[in-house]
Amino acid sequence: MESKLEFNTHTPEGITTLFADVILPLPLPKLYTYRVPHDLNDKVSVGARAIVQFGKKKVLTSIIAAIHQQPPALYEAKYILDLLDEEPLMNSQQLKLYEWMSQYYMCNLGEVINAALPSGLKLNSESRIQLNPDYNNNLMAFTGQEEMIIQTLLVKESLSYNEAAHILGLKSINPIIKSLLAKERIILYEEIREKYVPKKIKKLKLSQEYNNKVKLEALFKELEKKPKQTEVLLRYLQQVPVFNNPALNKAGLERISFINLLESASAYNTLFKKNVFEEFELIVPRFGEGEETKFKDIKLTDAQEKAKTEILDSFKSKETVLLHGITGSGKTEVFIELIKNALDGGSQVLYLLPEIALTTQIVQRLRKVFGNKMGVYHSKFSDNERVDIWKGLISGKLSFIVGVRSSIFLPFDNLGLIIIDEEHETSYKQYDPAPRYHARDTSLMLAKLHNAKTVLGSATPSIESYYNAITERWGLVKLSKRFGDAELPEIILADTRKERRNKTMRNDFSGLLVNEIKSALERKEQAILFQNRRGYSPYISCEDCAYIPKCQNCDVSLTLHMYSQDLRCHYCGHTQAPPINCPACGSGRIKSVGFGTEKIEEDIKLFIPEANVQRMDLDTTRKKNSYENIIGDFEKGKTNILVGTQMVSKGLDFDKVSLVGIFDADRMIHFPDFRSHERAFQMMTQVSGRAGRKAKKGRVIIQTADTEQALLKKVISNDYEGLYKDEIAERENFLYPPFCRIIKLTFKDIDRKKVHQGAQGLSELLKERLGGRRILGPEAPLIDRLRNYYLMDIFIKIEKDISLKAVKFSVGQTIQTFLSDKDYKNSYIQADVDPV
Ligand code: ADP
Ligand code: ZN
Ligand code: ZN
Repeated sequence: MESKLEFNTHTPEGITTLFADVILPLPLPKLYTYRVPHDLNDKVSVGARAIVQFGKKKVLTSIIAAIHQQPPALYEAKYILDLLDEEPLMNSQQLKLYEWMSQYYMCNLGEVINAALPSGLKLNSESRIQLNPDYNNNLMAFTGQEEMIIQTLLVKESLSYNEAAHILGLKSINPIIKSLLAKERIILYEEIREKYVPKKIKKLKLSQEYNNKVKLEALFKELEKKPKQTEVLLRYLQQVPVFNNPALNKAGLERISFINLLESASAYNTLFKKNVFEEFELIVPRFGEGEETKFKDIKLTDAQEKAKTEILDSFKSKETVLLHGITGSGKTEVFIELIKNALDGGSQVLYLLPEIALTTQIVQRLRKVFGNKMGVYHSKFSDNERVDIWKGLISGKLSFIVGVRSSIFLPFDNLGLIIIDEEHETSYKQYDPAPRYHARDTSLMLAKLHNAKTVLGSATPSIESYYNAITERWGLVKLSKRFGDAELPEIILADTRKERRNKTMRNDFSGLLVNEIKSALERKEQAILFQNRRGYSPYISCEDCAYIPKCQNCDVSLTLHMYSQDLRCHYCGHTQAPPINCPACGSGRIKSVGFGTEKIEEDIKLFIPEANVQRMDLDTTRKKNSYENIIGDFEKGKTNILVGTQMVSKGLDFDKVSLVGIFDADRMIHFPDFRSHERAFQMMTQVSGRAGRKAKKGRVIIQTADTEQALLKKVISNDYEGLYKDEIAERENFLYPPFCRIIKLTFKDIDRKKVHQGAQGLSELLKERLGGRRILGPEAPLIDRLRNYYLMDIFIKIEKDISLKAVKFSVGQTIQTFLSDKDYKNSYIQADVDPV
């Protein structure tokens, strides 16, 4: 390609030659330097996207990270092919944050960029152009260069970006491609699905001709015998009183909602054909639909007011404050006041919510207060919606973002406040792919870059965060009363061991729980049943030979799903039909073991036939609005029992829920992980918090086979401090976070022997370099085969006073040395810093 593209490499007097270091969207360890063509000198800026050639074949969208005059020492810099933005797409604080992430989380900058940019802002290397099959000769004129591309496409069918540049002998073909796209002569495929499309709505209004009193009165006369058409007209005038003010007609009405109001759509169509109405399209931002309905201002209670003042006081000497407020204490209202303050002061605000809790309830509440200033950034949103938010922030239309973990990547340029709600939630941590970042920890860095303040909120803070507060690195503010007269629920243990002995268990339900559900329903109240396991049963087993079907790709048993009639792997998605006879011994006696949400849903219908049950878990909420619909039905009382996984434990606030049932507490408590007690306490406390708000005391039934467990006592008495005391002592004793940092390395290969051998070798090398006591393992994880890859974990424990940076550097080098051995050329070593 270089041979054909003639650049003027001669530097005329007085013109500086610039170089740009760019981030490529690839897992590469460093930046690459390209030369800026002289005629782009004035346009090039840090944070803009540049198209560059990488290797012989690839043309990639990169981000310019730095501009300077230093040619690279080791290679001849290629030219930047084109600039996609004249205004930077990201600012220097963002780039700094991304660099910090790549260093801290041990991944490449390209991987961070990949996670950060909505795909609508990427142009990937595979994007090709072809003629638009729907081209309807719209008599647009084409330039000679455009004609050349068209002619080639008629013969060659498709061209890549650099082939097209080649043909024209041009370095900058972006304007030509853009123009051809605008004339609808070509399409960019691969991209066409993802490409940013602005949202349009169809509207209607009276045509110019009819927008006057005289003409309309005449029309009414004319329509005297046509009641349906008269209705259409009246409806319109009702909503748009043009008689009083003809200027109102300009904005018109949204077509779809108007038609829905009408008895007869065809009457409207007739009027449309008569040219009484005309239609037009309007581009609307996707975030701006809710109008700014100034909701009646809520007044903070004395306790809330006090918490707010304490937080603001704390900000005088601290950057970060933990708000420890019990469930139902009204933390959201305190946050709202803090957000108002920050926005009034002219700065931007980010409100982080964990994945699932980002629900209608909180968002609706915030929307009512903040209206169009607020943008919502959610993983279920389409790419177009995300690009709208990104652009809205750059243009200044939005100053307040409510979003899930990935919203830390957004182009803030003036953040004043970050709120991290439910800070203990593990969904703030990204597992796969890299960057394996924790949004809570990353936002503290984000806040630092902006000189912003941070408030973390939770009823059950993570041990790490509470430690930071107790040791006074952060401020600590408490809110220990529920709003109004609401009391915390009464928590009762159902002794399943005793009930089994007495034969009062019904399948997996204790008699106590069944009775409580029945009486709640009789009182016209609602119940939430929590089981943190989806599907029907976690496995099936042959009663004769104990055979258990396992996933062919992973080392896990297959979960039985009755609803879809299949066995499913919850790790790789593999499905197969449940066997009728045992594949091992041929026996027909196959039973299901254990129970998930599906089974609970089925059983409850059996025990209490009059109940209206709905289930909320990953399987029932895959579609975009299904989550909202389930919540809506429950809110309206269409359903009276909600069965679900941890999704039901968060952020929901229903008035009529007086009972919560918790299954399988023992499994949560005894999960083999140093955080299992913390997790179990959090889970049970959070889901209990859904019971009994507003004046009425709720009740929680926890089913357990061991009613004497110390942890359950703490849950019952809502003794968070007690939990913290026990846990922090344990962590100090056995050297776990926050007393050390952990890096988990996972060795992966499809060859089992390689993994064992390799992980052993790597561990020895690390021990040599970092000292034996800092390295644990290798050991096989709980699930040691996933998607056909065998896995072995190595844990690196680093004391607090040792430079993490130096350790990471050494670990990074060790990994590189190791992987350069051709024996391990198909192996992967994955690093997870601060795993949760
Ligand atoms: P938390 O997040 O701490 O669990 P919420 O913020 O959801 O608690 O508040 C619980 C309930 O109390 C909500 O229904 C909320 O609207 C209501 N509430 C909280 N504070 C006030 C207030 N000052 N005035 C009126 N209602 C309030
Ligand atoms: Zn068998
Ligand atoms: Zn699997």
